[in-house]
Amino acid sequence: MYNSWEELKKDCMGCTKCELCRTRTNLVFGTGNENAEVLFIGEGPGQNEDLQGLPFVGRGGQLLDKFLAAVDLDRNKNIYIANMVKCRPPQNRDPLPAEQEACIGWLREQVRLMRPKIIVCLGRISAQKLISPDFKVTKQHGEFIEKGGILFMGTFHPAALLRNPNQKPDALEDFLKLKEKIKEICERTY
Ligand code: SF4
Repeated sequence: MYNSWEELKKDCMGCTKCELCRTRTNLVFGTGNENAEVLFIGEGPGQNEDLQGLPFVGRGGQLLDKFLAAVDLDRNKNIYIANMVKCRPPQNRDPLPAEQEACIGWLREQVRLMRPKIIVCLGRISAQKLISPDFKVTKQHGEFIEKGGILFMGTFHPAALLRNPNQKPDALEDFLKLKEKIKEICERTY
């Protein structure tokens, strides 16, 4: 258990708990406001993220920033963004269950320190791990589910939206629902 983000980040940055440590260029710890009420959780770093050490900085990240801006959210101000695994899986494959299990402790500590009111799962991997193992993004996106005092919502991963642009209107609706929910239950985000 950690009492500060500094201690947590320092230990996490040296992590060798799974094989992904061998192939990473940079560990991607997360970015944003550590006191945010809304936490976004993706799957894992891709090539650009691995090179820069930051989450969602490629084309998918630019699309995510557009959706965020549409509902007055900003990764530099009022949200935090992290991933299920902090190191890039080779060739952008899905993180293996064992890698997710090895890494989840870091995310748990981030959540414990932040105590967000809302967690948005970006894509199947994080929604199935954090909301329910049989979560279907195409059917259940935009639904709020309470777990342990936190409201979870799953939506499309930005990379999936780049592959299937016809899902963008549904994704925008999810973000609009998120905005309404934030207005309802959060005090410091807007
Ligand atoms: S993916 Fe997670 S558990 Fe594996 S080495 Fe990176 S930080 Fe550690």
